[in-house]
Formats: sequence, C-alpha cells, structure tokens
Amino acid sequence: MGSCLTKSKDLKPTHNGYGSGPTTTAAVHQQRYQEPVRPAPVQPQFHHIPEKPGTQTPWKPVAPSPSPKPVAPRVDTILGKPFEDIRMHYTIGKELGKGQFGVTYLCIENSSGKQYACKTISKKKLVTRNDKEDMRREIQIMQHLSGQPNIVEFKGAYEDKLSVHLVMELCAGGELFDRIIAKGHYSERAAASICRAIVNVVHACHFMGVMHRDLKPENFLLSSKGENALLKATDFGLSVFIEDGKVYKDIVGSAYYVAPEVLLRKYGKEIDIWSAGVILYILLSGVPPFWAETEKGIFDAILEGEIDFESQPWPSISESAKDLVRRMLTQDPKKRITSTQVLEHPWIREGGSASDKPIDSAVLSRMKQFRRMNKLKQLALKVIAENLSSEEIQGLKQMFANIDTDNSGTITYEELKTGLARLGSKLTEAEHHFRTVARNSEICAKYITRDELEAAMKEYGMGDDDTIKEIISEVDTDNDGKINYEEFRDMMRSGTQHTQLF
Ligand code: ADP
Repeated sequence: MGSCLTKSKDLKPTHNGYGSGPTTTAAVHQQRYQEPVRPAPVQPQFHHIPEKPGTQTPWKPVAPSPSPKPVAPRVDTILGKPFEDIRMHYTIGKELGKGQFGVTYLCIENSSGKQYACKTISKKKLVTRNDKEDMRREIQIMQHLSGQPNIVEFKGAYEDKLSVHLVMELCAGGELFDRIIAKGHYSERAAASICRAIVNVVHACHFMGVMHRDLKPENFLLSSKGENALLKATDFGLSVFIEDGKVYKDIVGSAYYVAPEVLLRKYGKEIDIWSAGVILYILLSGVPPFWAETEKGIFDAILEGEIDFESQPWPSISESAKDLVRRMLTQDPKKRITSTQVLEHPWIREGGSASDKPIDSAVLSRMKQFRRMNKLKQLALKVIAENLSSEEIQGLKQMFANIDTDNSGTITYEELKTGLARLGSKLTEAEHHFRTVARNSEICAKYITRDELEAAMKEYGMGDDDTIKEIISEVDTDNDGKINYEEFRDMMRSGTQHTQLF
C-alpha cells in the first residue's frame, strides 16, 4: 500500500480490554510439549473430557492412543528436534494466502506427488517464550484434532534456521463466503448444512478437550472446488486444551463473534456455541447480530444480547431456524444449547426441517458487502502489522503493560499479537494510523493511489482482478485514482454497517 502505511512511532492503541488480562498461556505452561511430527492423533495431557458425543453425530472419535513419553523442548529450537530441510520431502509451489503471521504455499510431497498446503512462519516473529509455546500448542492441537472430517488434516511440522513449516491438507476450494456468493442461490437447507459442519467442529473440539475460541467464517475453507467439498476448520491459533475447573479469563476472539461471558472474563467452552450462533445468524441474514460503529459499541450490543428478528429477511425465515439461533445466542452459558443438542435440533439435523426454498437474494448481497469490507480491513491490518519494527512492537508492549489495569503484571506477546490483530476491526485505530502517517511523514502524501492499493490487494491474494477492481472503485468514491483519508475512513466504516437493502 505504497509509502503511506509504513512504520510509524505513533500507533497508539487505546485500551479496550484486549491485551490487558492475565496470560493466556497458563494452560500451556502446564502441558509438556510432545513430538509434533507424528501424523496420527496423540493424546495430550488434558484432564477432562467435557461431554460425550451424541449418537447421531457423523464423527466418531478414534480411541485415544496411549500417552507418548513427553519430550522436553530443546531450548534453542521451536519444535524441539533437529532442523530438517522441508525441501527434502516437499517441493514448495505458489503462494496460497497470507495470514497475520505466516504465508501459506501450495506444496507437493516428493514421494507421492500429492498436493498439500504449507504454512511457513518466520521465526523472527516468534520472539518470546510464549510465542514459541503458542506455536507448539497450535501444532499439538491440530495434530490432536486431525482425523475429524471438518478439521484440516495435519501432516507434519519442519523447522529450519529461519522458519517453521506446517504441512497440512490442501483446501483448494477457497473461503466459505466466497463459495456461497459464487453459487448465487441459497436456502435455509444450505445454511443448515454449513452450520452443521461448523458445529461438528465445535463438537469434535469439545469432545477432545479443546476450546476453539476463534470461530469465524474466515477460519473455514472448502476442501475442493467440487460440489461435495467439505468445510474445514483451518486455524487453531487461539485454541487451548480445556483444564478441569479452570475459569478462563483472557479476552480472545474476534469482535462480532465473541460471547458475552468472554467480555465478563469468566468463561468456558460454551463460548464456541455462541460464536457458531453468530455465524448462523450471518448465514441466514447476511449481517452480524451485534453491530455498532466501534468495537466498544459491538461489545455493548453483545452484552445487551437483543437479537433482531424483525428486519428483513427474518419474517420469512422459519420459526425453527430462529429457535436454534435463539438457543445458541442465549446469554447465560449454562442455559445455552450444547453442541450435541444443536446437532439433534430438528432444523439442523440431516434430513431435518430446513427448507430448500430460496432465501431472499438481498441476503447474498449483504453477505458480499460484509465479506468485502472485512477483507479490506484485513488488508489494512496486515500492512500495518508487517510494517512495525521490533522497537515499535516493544513500544506497544510497554503500552499494553501501562494499561494493565488488573495489575496482573503479565503481558504476553500473544496478548500483543491479539492486540495487534484487533487493529483489523478497530477502525478508529487504523484511521488514527493512516492519519498520523499522513500527517507526520514529509515524504508521504495524504493518499494511497489506486495502483498501490491494487498491487497490495493482489499481493495479499484478496481476490481475482475483477473483484479487486470492483472493490477499489467502490472505495475511490470520487474516482480520482487516489484513496484519500476520508475515503479510507468511509471504507473502514461502511463494510460493517447494516445497509438498508430492502
Ligand atoms: P494466520 O493464522 O497467519 O492468519 P491463516 O491460517 O489464516 O494464517 O492462513 C492464511 C491464508 O492462507 C488463508 O486465508 C488461506 O487463504 C490460506 N490457507 C491457509 N490454510 C490453507 C489450506 N490448508 N489450504 C489452502 N489454503 C490455506
């Protein structure tokens, strides 16, 4: 995005509750690291299986294998084993996508010719002990959950001097919303089938003693471009093993999807059902149930918990679908429906009551807009995060420490990462950044050119050429070939509004 979104010493996130809590890695500290390359699921050291799966669920857990002997990590490596050149086993191909902390490539296994996805994380980004533990935990959880049809299959992990590489099943079908939009027609039955896949993931996680903590549509990809592609959960970066009796307090997740008890800093696995309920609401209406112009406003709406079933298209949505949404978005986690009960609900059950009557096409338009603007925000965030120097990250850490209101005294790098990740939805801060960069830098003009934005969007794989051009035209409202601050601000704001399409 050209020279405008470059390093700034003035990025000052305001305190919003994120990043100020106690360490999120307490559970991890008590788990010993295990050899991550083993392809078969291993039994981690969680102490509690929260709930038995229902008899009708499609997924059957594999009998846990005996606990392997824990291997203490070598201090000088992430994976605790000798470096290994991934190229000995795989040929790395084109880039598939960029995330907050890694780049995912297509790769081909030399021995079999089979295609996989390889997520490469630069070790420069894994600075603190907690970072490294988070990385190990992500691998351990992926490995642990591997084998469930709606969870991406883990293949192996490699480490060399510069990077850690995670090889996993290739999901060649792209993102969930893109697929729904591309199809062009949509029904309650289709929404039910997607929601069933998502709740299958929740069910598998909970059965295996894992709390996902970051369920959102972007974390689901389709296994192939084919009609019968499976939906796969791909990102377990914020997941933790559930510890018996532990009250979780860390504020994690993405604003729209976060459960009220997370904001109240006392929660358990029920938060995943809430997030799935938010996704279901979006699947049926095209907009999130709790919305406001600021993140604080979104949180207030979540805590208030009032669900709009009056606006379009809700009057034409079945009572049974609304009943399930209500049960999933129940404020009190103890009264909220469980994953087993969701999968048995008459609307969602395979062959259940969800009708295949087309849903109003305006739902798809709204979903398209929601997705498009989230992508732009994601892009702004990535560019901002990538351009922060280690000193600036250090500075931000200090800032988070200064706002550690509960005096826990522990600000982990993970919290910093979460704080930075918040930038994507914290439009006020992104705006602030844009403004300070524009104001402070003499060499930086007060706009981003269309070409720069186009190049950045291409680089970050934000869509095909036509989609990118279409998005830019929408942002560059005065059509002068430059995106100025006002246009940038409007773009950051507009995508999340409940636009009146009816
Ligand atoms: P991060 O956790 O660093 O944010 P992600 O896991 O979100 O990274 O991955 C970044 C991008 O890489 C995704 O948006 C997607 O486009 C692509 N990607 C990730 N995993 C796969 C996969 N298994 N198959 C195909 N593409 C993938």
